[in-house]
Amino acid sequence: MDIGTFMALALGHPKYGYYITRDPIGAQGDFTTSPEISQVFGEMLTVCMIEAWIRGGKPNVHLVELGPGRGTLMADFLRSCKNAPDFAERSDIHLVETSPVLRNAQKTKLAGYKPHWHDSIDTLPNDAPLLILANEFFDALPIRQAVMTLDGWREKVIDLDADGNFTFGIGAGAQKLRKDAGDAWIATLPAGNDGDIREISPVRDAMMKALCERLQKQGGLMIVIDYGHAITNAAGDTFQAVRQHQYVSPLSHVGEADLTSHVDFARLADIAKAAGCAVHGPDDQKTFLETMGINMRLKALQAVNPNDATLAPGVSRLTDAQGMGGLFKVMAVAAQVSFCRFSPAGFQKPS
Ligand code: SAH
Repeated sequence: MDIGTFMALALGHPKYGYYITRDPIGAQGDFTTSPEISQVFGEMLTVCMIEAWIRGGKPNVHLVELGPGRGTLMADFLRSCKNAPDFAERSDIHLVETSPVLRNAQKTKLAGYKPHWHDSIDTLPNDAPLLILANEFFDALPIRQAVMTLDGWREKVIDLDADGNFTFGIGAGAQKLRKDAGDAWIATLPAGNDGDIREISPVRDAMMKALCERLQKQGGLMIVIDYGHAITNAAGDTFQAVRQHQYVSPLSHVGEADLTSHVDFARLADIAKAAGCAVHGPDDQKTFLETMGINMRLKALQAVNPNDATLAPGVSRLTDAQGMGGLFKVMAVAAQVSFCRFSPAGFQKPS
């Protein structure tokens, strides 16, 4: 099968899928995310989003999070929204989440609020602008890979070896396109060197297109944060698996390891622009958070909690240029039909 089919099954199989069966986030789990490292992460996103909302005239909006994990980012966001008193009355909360385990965690974390849950973006309301947050969501959507062989580009596939173990193989290529049009992308790849890998994510592309079309129709702003690259195909093979905070082979521990890939931000930006949206960034997470004033916020928190030794290391981890601060990118996508026809705080003019 192609890598995308494998990823979709390993992560989302209704009975055995990785996200369906567990809460993978945190020290006891497999990986940690920015909102779990520091509350300041969510606070900086609140400032950016709410500033845009106020500047845009405080319309009624739907606040949406894609893949909210344990609900920590949303909880931090809503807590800091209390400084914008009208926001609570003029917004409701929508969480797009497929994992029943994580939905439960979100319910607990957001007790006192009334979120609406959705299996997909299709059921999000369409009667008001959308403020959409997506941290480490796009990386979980299935990718496909092409590998350059002496025969030209071929799809990289997952096969079984003689002992019944998963192994990588080479499937149909430009010469042998399967009938489904999904394979035609391989024929469009420019020449490469033997062994080169190219990645595409039709699922991610379709998700981005649908979201941007919704933004253009309804108005609003979306902030996408993820590990990834700002130039298409800059990274080659980024298909990865993480289990208990270690990289493992994507073919071992199937259904028990997180499978992701790096997000191609240039491609997402092109899709957003084609839908008519303005694109700000992508910038490094370090640049965005520091521009938003993360160090000022850290000082204010330290003044109130002088004995909290976790504050400074948390912020350092989020902004470390050699670590998350450099690997993670932040991109804002603004509809050009409503209140956000300006650069959101923390970003330069649209590209
Ligand atoms: N944003 C959170 C969690 C990131 S992990 C944080 O930063 O901590 C990825 C999240 O996306 C999980 O909540 C997972 O269940 C969800 N998810 C993965 N694939 C999804 C899909 N196709 N549709 C909706 N949610 C999905």
